[in-house]
Amino acid sequence: MLIDGKKTANEIQAEIRSQIGLHKTRKPGLAVLLVGDNPASHTYVKYKRKACAEVGIVSTVIELAGSISESDLLKQIEKLNQNPAVDGILVQLPLPSHIDEKNITSAIDPLKDIDGFHPINVGKMLLGIDDGFFPCTPLGIKVLLEKHKIPVEGKHIVIVGRSNIVGKPLAAILMQKKPHCNATVTVAHSQSENLQQLTKSADILIAALGRPLFIKKEMVKPKSTIIDVGINRMPNGKLIGDVDFDEVSKVAGHITPVPGGIGPMTIAMLLQNTFKAFLKTLLVLFLFASCSQSPKDLCTHFEGTEMARPYQITVGKILSAKEKRLVEKVIQETFLDARTLFDNNDPGSEISKLNSASANTLIPLSKPLQDLLTLCDKIVSLSGGRFDPTVEPLEKLWKQTPNPTVDALQNACDATGWEHICIHNGIFKKDRPETALDLLGVSKGLCVDWIVERLEKLGFSDLLVKWSGEIRGIGHHPENRDWSVEVDPSLRVNEQPMAPLPLRDCAISTCVNRGYMIDPLTASPLYNRRSEAWNFERAIASVTVIAPTCALADALATAAMVFQTRSEAEKWAQEIVDLYPNVSFWILSHRDDR
Ligand code: NDP
Repeated sequence: MLIDGKKTANEIQAEIRSQIGLHKTRKPGLAVLLVGDNPASHTYVKYKRKACAEVGIVSTVIELAGSISESDLLKQIEKLNQNPAVDGILVQLPLPSHIDEKNITSAIDPLKDIDGFHPINVGKMLLGIDDGFFPCTPLGIKVLLEKHKIPVEGKHIVIVGRSNIVGKPLAAILMQKKPHCNATVTVAHSQSENLQQLTKSADILIAALGRPLFIKKEMVKPKSTIIDVGINRMPNGKLIGDVDFDEVSKVAGHITPVPGGIGPMTIAMLLQNTFKAFLKTLLVLFLFASCSQSPKDLCTHFEGTEMARPYQITVGKILSAKEKRLVEKVIQETFLDARTLFDNNDPGSEISKLNSASANTLIPLSKPLQDLLTLCDKIVSLSGGRFDPTVEPLEKLWKQTPNPTVDALQNACDATGWEHICIHNGIFKKDRPETALDLLGVSKGLCVDWIVERLEKLGFSDLLVKWSGEIRGIGHHPENRDWSVEVDPSLRVNEQPMAPLPLRDCAISTCVNRGYMIDPLTASPLYNRRSEAWNFERAIASVTVIAPTCALADALATAAMVFQTRSEAEKWAQEIVDLYPNVSFWILSHRDDR
């Protein structure tokens, strides 16, 4: 069966394009340094630029003479390191022989090193730390296997080729103790003895040697997966791989073609890494002073309390009295809309009507509630049911008593479960009258999104909106820097208060453990201090999520809280980040400060 890398790469590119589309005021920037006139390098750079343009990345190619000295090339890199419009830097390899590639790759700012060749990023990859950059070709191979559901865990993977850009990093990635890795990896090279014996024992064989048609039918285990990394240009201009495709495809279970296999995936990962670098700059720019430290306040602020939670809304300019009244009106109307829809304490709210409805009554939903329930449905499924807005009956019960009776627990369990809810064509129905929704946990983010979007429509393009733990910023502070926010001063990372985060066209949601969250999978409180199994240090103290919208950040943060341990939550978060590259998680566990 053919593994179509081009199709998968196109799907990934479409996702990146739509994510970049959410960032209106600034686009990710990629700078490519192209040294000399190697025709293959010029062709690769042309493809990369085209792909960048397709997804909305602004790429700049700096062409330099092949005679450039190493020190002049290093100066060019330093300029790009300092350039705030450049998120990612790529030096097209190979470089002329008088330049030491290691010196060049080490000079790139690790936060802009979208090729993942800087020693810091290589070290992070080896240690299994995912916040750096992985080299594009190995990452593309991993993602392709994952997307095509080729089992990797526990399998024997043989990589032929041990280069620093393919073989070695790929081995490091696939052997990690992580989901979709955990493989037994053998790396072969030109000095390996009994190569055929090795390749024939592979469940997955990865050919990265740069030898046309080297892998033959008799070197391959029947029904195994064959990944062909090789790109060899023949004298007639045709590209062929390291695998004898015509022969090997007859015995292989799965096989990638050349062209159309790993090549397009490598480019897709380059785009993904550039977008990731763009999001990372949000975290670096916190070095700029926060807006509250401004000597002269150039903003207009609105503060108040809504549903017992404080809000602060900052518009990035001095407003006239008329504009102020307009903003105030939008804020009040939006909160009123939120109460009318989601306030469980208001018997007239739309949510209360759903909660008090009898079984199987068909209730038409308003568009905003329908959208929110659709988002909930997605997160319920992504979290394997850990996130469940119907958990209220269990929550109520455990708040009433630490030792509920078996009958009371059974009744609460019967009423709980997303499967009791059905939403079809904007019509709501539940099959149990007791089933109730509590959407406050995720509707706060939606309300923040509404305020931002409604004000933006009225022409206010620089905004910072905070309500409870939910924050969204668009545009800039009037001093032409990013908005900067303190997530939660009480939170500690490595014993230090969490640094303020810069916020550019994205949202942050923080969910802090208040001690009464219910795990729907066990129907009991997640952090039961009476339970012997409860481990204070391993339990999650807080989750902060950055995402394009506050509703998504809010829902993901709430979902990540409902894991027993930080490591389980991190595993899940990684899967989400693989799906949504513009989402980031900070999951903190407690310090043992009892
Ligand atoms: P390198 O030349 O750096 O490394 C080749 C590796 O293959 C070396 O480890 C070498 O062993 C090993 N090798 C060579 N001959 C044999 C042999 N007869 N038996 C066993 N092992 C052998 O190449 P790269 O890793 O940079 O690239 C490999 C191929 O992948 C090339 O065709 C390249 O064009 C292609 N490529 C494709 C990419 C894509 O986007 N699809 C991206 C990057 C590369 P030793 O170490 O002992 O010399």
